[in-house]
Amino acid sequence: MDLFDYMREQNMQNESPLANRMRPKTLEEVVGQQHIIGKDKLLYRAIRADKLSSVIFYGPPGTGKTTLAKVIAGVTKAEFVSINATAAGKKDMEAVVEQAKNSLGMYGRRTILFIDEIHRLSRQVEEVLYPALEDYALDIIMGKGPAARSIRIELNKFTLIGATTRAGSLSAPLRDRFGVIQRLGLYNTEQLSDIVKRSAVLLGVACDDDGAEEIAKRSRGTPRIANRFLRRVRDFAEVMGNGRITADIAKIALNRMDVDKLGLDSLDKRLLTMIIKGYDGGPVGLETLAAAIGEESVTIEDVCEPYLMQLGFLSKTPRGRVATQLAYDHLGFLKDGQTHL
Ligand code: ADP
Repeated sequence: MDLFDYMREQNMQNESPLANRMRPKTLEEVVGQQHIIGKDKLLYRAIRADKLSSVIFYGPPGTGKTTLAKVIAGVTKAEFVSINATAAGKKDMEAVVEQAKNSLGMYGRRTILFIDEIHRLSRQVEEVLYPALEDYALDIIMGKGPAARSIRIELNKFTLIGATTRAGSLSAPLRDRFGVIQRLGLYNTEQLSDIVKRSAVLLGVACDDDGAEEIAKRSRGTPRIANRFLRRVRDFAEVMGNGRITADIAKIALNRMDVDKLGLDSLDKRLLTMIIKGYDGGPVGLETLAAAIGEESVTIEDVCEPYLMQLGFLSKTPRGRVATQLAYDHLGFLKDGQTHL
């Protein structure tokens, strides 16, 4: 088995059957993100015309970057091969790119090469991608002197899709070479409710509209979390009720998981409480905060902050993070750091 076959097999195995079932398969099934895949958008037209060159999706974890890449592969009937930037050495990348380029010949299908966490590629490995991204042709000079002419050999095209949680960490040369960089945002409650309801149907679970909304409201704007909560609440409903997901069942189950009514979990609460009680509401620098609560700064930046900022609980200032009045109110703190009685 060569590396390419191995990776294809890994891709198939990497996902649990349940998670795979909930993943949208067509563009129409993808909820939201209309600023990227709306019918009037460039990306939509490029996908439909099978003319997509390379694209980077960036956004918080679990917001659909891999999903979109897989949907694009499905719609354009391309082979999907994924590689994680942290695990890819130079040789791996060379082999994968080479095979992706030639995949039309080998497998009769174009390849979509998906590079997850693309901002973490080493410089050396990144350089393997540049020629492939720049153009898909090879110019060869035949003959010498005045008779010399250049012949262009077209390589079979492949599409490179990169995913990253932090577009700011992409190197400038890499960013410049990608045709399109698209941002995936967090989802609103209505969109998450739709995702939960669709997943419930696929899982064969009875779920009230109110039940779906309760799960959606607590899912921090993130489809992956919504789907995970749905499965947990379903298990709870089977044990504690008659299997049907109602608003009450969802509330009790999620409260028990220490997820509050806005979706804040214990880490969010620890973070906000530290800013409020430890630093008088801020500003406090990210690294100081990370050390104070014993959490990685990357986790705080990628996982906690996007949602806390969407809720208006946290603001970033040049001097550091600041907890807003809304955060004080939600957690029951008075501005001077005293708790309500
Ligand atoms: P990322 O690659 O951004 O970390 P994924 O694409 O793996 O996120 O998404 C996580 C899960 O959330 C997927 O398995 C899929 O079921 C669901 N999901 C993500 N985006 C959407 C969407 N736009 N519509 C419906 N389901 C989605």
